Amino acid sequence: MRDFSRDHRWLSINTATVRRQGDLVAIIEACARHGVRAVSPWRDQVADVGLDRAVRAVRDAGLDLSGYCRGGMFVADAAHRAAARDDNRRAVDEARALGAPCLVLVVGGLPQFSRPGSAPSKKLADAHRMVEEEIAYLLDYARSAGMPLALEPLHPMYAADRACVNTMRQALDICDRLDPQRSGALGLAVDVYHVYWDFELEAQIARAGGDRLLAFHVCDWLVPTTDLLLDRGMMGDGVADIPAIRAAVEREGFDGYVEVEILSNRWWSQPMDEVIATCIARFGTAV
Ligand code: ZN
Repeated sequence: MRDFSRDHRWLSINTATVRRQGDLVAIIEACARHGVRAVSPWRDQVADVGLDRAVRAVRDAGLDLSGYCRGGMFVADAAHRAAARDDNRRAVDEARALGAPCLVLVVGGLPQFSRPGSAPSKKLADAHRMVEEEIAYLLDYARSAGMPLALEPLHPMYAADRACVNTMRQALDICDRLDPQRSGALGLAVDVYHVYWDFELEAQIARAGGDRLLAFHVCDWLVPTTDLLLDRGMMGDGVADIPAIRAAVEREGFDGYVEVEILSNRWWSQPMDEVIATCIARFGTAV
């Protein structure tokens, strides 16, 4: 297992972590100031400054990307399906322009939440089917663009509105069916927030293997958690055994950036430099 106590060379900041404190260019500059070598931007933050400016800012700061957030929201009614496909192809193109190593997929839940305006449904089984069909469809395009897709299982509390793929096992079953040859075009983004509770976690990480572990996200699970979306904890403040999970992914050969992704009203209300400095400190003690 890599020693993170001496430096933060393997730290990446997911730019949602400080999204309220500045635009993407300001975040990139702050990361560079703190010696952070990688970021993972969100599409809306890129759109706000413009793709060209985002590409330039990343390049000028000499940063790597650890991923691009995010494609997906595949579940739609018939009237919104073509738009969802176009949108996902654009996400692949943007990821490529930015030099991301993978496009993270949050797959969507029921159609009315995944693609607003779609006819409402309660059929999660239909959503599961559609997610798999649409990943298969996007995979062809992503392959030709050389952009790996990183499927992120989300905690089951998000099944209806954000992602109906909720466990490592479910995500890996999809990978096995769509990419049985393990080509590297499809894998997982493992986020401790979403999977720390899973009694199969270690076994499924071993099943994934290094070639399917495309991204590793950290934050912490607070007890009690007071908001379903915006109460993620700083590493070390909650109950997730982050070092044990990191040890498991590194045992399989994962040697990439460890991405700090904290969506939190509490941390959004702190100055950007303070949040980044805290991420760096905790990276050395709690990751
Ligand atoms: Zn994540």
